[in-house]
Amino acid sequence: MLASLPDNVRQRITDAAILLELDQGEVLQRQGTPLSHVYFPTRGLVTGVLSAVDGTQFAYLRRGREGAIYSIAAARLDDSVADCTLVVDVAATMLAVPMSHFRRVMRESPEVTHAVLMHAAYSIKWLERTLNCPAHHPIQARTAYWLLVLSAYGAGRVMRVTHGRIAEVLGVRRQSISEALGELQDQDAISLGRERIVIRDLTSLRRHACECRAQIEEVVRLHRAGHLPSAA
Ligand SMILES: [Zn+2]
Repeated sequence: MLASLPDNVRQRITDAAILLELDQGEVLQRQGTPLSHVYFPTRGLVTGVLSAVDGTQFAYLRRGREGAIYSIAAARLDDSVADCTLVVDVAATMLAVPMSHFRRVMRESPEVTHAVLMHAAYSIKWLERTLNCPAHHPIQARTAYWLLVLSAYGAGRVMRVTHGRIAEVLGVRRQSISEALGELQDQDAISLGRERIVIRDLTSLRRHACECRAQIEEVVRLHRAGHLPSAA
């Protein structure tokens, strides 16, 4: 998202930034803790998983280079605590900007407001187009889809990912994920190692993924470009 801003505006934001390097599996923020920064990933993927009061979990937040973590929360003004736990799913580099500073720049800069609006618009589009996924798409197809998401965000073909983490993100039992991965292995789309999944045949994996995979292409385009469409 930063790349979509004019140089002087981007400079104002990054003047107050510190650089964070986070490995896969690290927790960026826990649910219920105070919001303090807006994070601008320059590589990698962060996923937010909400733990509901009834004990269920589901992932609904996914941020990479095309977006910024908590920029939408900063625009809402009244948000003060994290509503989900953010975990790094693909090793990430990001700039952390104090939220008060970001809000000040956003108030004074229409370009930043526009960038946040575009980011929110694409985030809503992704959510709307994949609403059907948890309710109706088979677990094997959802598992293939999530592996494609990880791959799109730079995880590469050899992924260090546990069955438990995929289960957490997709909101299903770990055993179901192991079965789904076993079936994908039987079909030669992937091979399984200890806490490691290797994509053997991307075309086959795409064929087994649910139709939500269509959303990945758009985010890949934004992600690779490192920015959202500008106002011009
Ligand atoms: Zn789906």
